[in-house]
Amino acid sequence: MSKLYKPDILIVGSGFFGAVLAERLANISNKKVLIIERRNHIGGNSFSEVDKKTNIEYHKYGTHIFHTANQKVWDYINKFTEFNNYRHQVLSKHKSKVYQMPINLETINSFFKKNFSPIEAEKFILNKTKKFKNYKHKNFEDKAISQIGKELYNAFIKGYTQKQWGKKPKYLPESIFNRLPIRYSYNEDYYQQTQYQGIPKNGYKDIFINLTKNKNIRIKLKEKYNLKYKIKPRYLTIYTGPLDSLLNYKFGKLEWRSLSFKKEVKKTRDFQGTSVINYPDLKNKFTRVHEPKHLHPERKPFNSNQTLVIKEYSVKNDNEPYYPINDEVNRIKHRKYKLEASKIKKFEFGGRLADYAYYDMDMTISAALKKFEQIKKKIK
Ligand SMILES: Cc1cc2nc3c(=O)[nH]c(=O)nc-3n(C[C@H](O)[C@H](O)[C@H](O)COP(=O)(O)OP(=O)(O)OC[C@H]3O[C@@H](n4cnc5c(N)ncnc54)[C@H](O)[C@@H]3O)c2cc1C
Repeated sequence: MSKLYKPDILIVGSGFFGAVLAERLANISNKKVLIIERRNHIGGNSFSEVDKKTNIEYHKYGTHIFHTANQKVWDYINKFTEFNNYRHQVLSKHKSKVYQMPINLETINSFFKKNFSPIEAEKFILNKTKKFKNYKHKNFEDKAISQIGKELYNAFIKGYTQKQWGKKPKYLPESIFNRLPIRYSYNEDYYQQTQYQGIPKNGYKDIFINLTKNKNIRIKLKEKYNLKYKIKPRYLTIYTGPLDSLLNYKFGKLEWRSLSFKKEVKKTRDFQGTSVINYPDLKNKFTRVHEPKHLHPERKPFNSNQTLVIKEYSVKNDNEPYYPINDEVNRIKHRKYKLEASKIKKFEFGGRLADYAYYDMDMTISAALKKFEQIKKKIK
């Protein structure tokens, strides 16, 4: 890149938030965009690549299922990829037996060895939960038990949550937990509310290549941004990284849970029959096992006699942020960072890291499209 290159807009981070804004700013506003990315690839946490040993595509930062009920987002993203017809299903292995998730009529009947109708199952669970409805302690455990009862909680939620957050659920605030979906039907479609779903036929990386295919978009990998960054854009910097590191941790570190992954090649055509199985029991250190070939049943390696299996471990690592620890202390810290960042001139921020939030991909795309509408007037 020439030393004299001065972009109109500098975008920090090449995940969905940064890439969608780059695409809009270059294609619609005809602006020169420079994306800088600290990693050696574009795509942020949605990035996928092909495993060299097995030729199977996997999602480097955990299995990503695209699902949305937002027509605008669906129409937009379909300009950059085609999706296969994958429908997500989640299973959970407790004491060597596999159950359906979220908890549904099949899970209840199979777990309690019953043959309930929907109404009978509802009454049965109500009977188990009613004495816990007015729970005293405002913690995760009491809230969960009040919704699904002790037995299902102990089997499927307790150990999984402890591994995921590194703390016993009775010491977790109830605020990090919303609602455990429990279905009194046999519907096991994980994302039943979102009519659009699938995996990009050519993988996620391909979406990012297509989003940034414009001669006015340049990308610089392995480049970390800070406020003294050498390139100053004509109009605006759009920052999609964490705010605490940007502002030198002046209000302290924001805490995150992180993940680590262990890949293994298994000499079998099909290891577990599905893309993801949860492991809630504490005897297993990992939380989930992924088998990515199931995300692409339409592809050739699906029938090969080997498969890629990835174990997922939940770890504490604020430097590789995955899930925000959304408690009161961190929320207050983040509010201070947001206020401070909003005072920086010619500077906008957004995306999951800067907002210290969990966003699905469709929410991220929708937020980026809205951000574009706000800033396009300012940069004419
Ligand atoms: C384990 C896991 C599973 C998920 N599964 C799903 C799913 O199934 N379906 C779904 O819809 N969503 C899923 N998501 C959410 C999805 O990953 C996010 O919606 C998406 O990644 C958000 O995009 P983003 O651009 O905001 O952030 P990111 O994708 O994190 O991109 C931010 C980029 O900024 C870069 N960056 C940060 N700081 C700097 C700096 N100082 N200088 C240069 N570059 C910097 C980072 O390296 C990164 O590439 C999942 C998330 C996780 C954690």
